[in-house]
Amino acid sequence: GAKDDGRNTWRFYDPQMNQASLERLILVSALRRGVAAGELRAWYQPKLDLQTRALIGAEALVRWKHPDQGWIQPVRFIPAAEQSDLIVVIGEWMLHAVAAQIARWHAQGLGWLPVAVNLGARHFSHPGLPPLLRRLRAEHGLPPNVLELEITESTLMEAGGEPGALLGELRRAGVTLAIDDFGTGYSSLSYLRHLPVDVLKIDRSFVNSIERDGRDLSIAGTIIALAHGLGLKVVAEGVETEDQRGLLEALGCDQGQGFLFARPMPAAEFEVWRQVWGVPLLT
Ligand code: C2E
Ligand code: MG
Ligand code: MG
Ligand code: MG
Repeated sequence: GAKDDGRNTWRFYDPQMNQASLERLILVSALRRGVAAGELRAWYQPKLDLQTRALIGAEALVRWKHPDQGWIQPVRFIPAAEQSDLIVVIGEWMLHAVAAQIARWHAQGLGWLPVAVNLGARHFSHPGLPPLLRRLRAEHGLPPNVLELEITESTLMEAGGEPGALLGELRRAGVTLAIDDFGTGYSSLSYLRHLPVDVLKIDRSFVNSIERDGRDLSIAGTIIALAHGLGLKVVAEGVETEDQRGLLEALGCDQGQGFLFARPMPAAEFEVWRQVWGVPLLT
């Protein structure tokens, strides 16, 4: 059986390989082909000041334009990519695309809009990451802190090495650092004190029923107070209703993103949205 073979033996057909890992293998090879064929796209979701609704940044989210299957969402391929080197390939592709887009918007007279890229665990601890960030900033003339990286709590915990040292090195490469999906991991709160990060993003599971569930309201309020106590900015993700926006604003949350304002969009659509949105005044 397969167990008698050496650990490094890799056979395509293995009766012990379950359906899920077979599907993952097929997906990863299709994705490898798709990445090489230029089928990835970066979509952009605005981040807004919760009080004034002014545009203050964007999050870049990967999409895969499959020739037969159409648009494929990251939930369908990022988990498989995370199990291989492909997560680094995808992350590097996104960083190139986003750095170029930030520079293009600036060249169009739209200013330096900060844009965040999500980072997989293997990429976070990849030694090529800080030099790549420096190269991209030099190549596109990006000032410090217009590129932002979003890293989940679990990525920080899984990373080999000292997360604080890795974050410090990234920060010295001139990027802003955000902890994504904050509150969903199993980390202790005291670790935050030692981590050089700039932003906490409240996971959308806490925002979801904030109008109905007092426990979620209290968790969101606690995260906001914690962030501010540590001198960090706080962003709420998944803001879908005006009630949610109002509650988060009342709790002192700085920024928000969500379907209430806009869905993730291709760059061209983002540009149109941006013109229409303007900087609305408070009524
Ligand atoms: P995330 O980084 O937490 O991104 C936020 C997700 O919430 C996005 O889903 C976004 O479309 C969705 N979202 C935003 N506002 C709302 C809302 O109001 N309601 C609801 N229901 N959803 C909202 P998306 O684009 O499908 O991405 C899912 C996850 O996939 C991301 O979660 C991130 O973990 C991962 N991901 C996306 N792009 C990349 C990438 O380029 N690299 C890596 N490593 N991961 C990525
Ligand atoms: Mg994110
Ligand atoms: Mg998130
Ligand atoms: Mg999330």
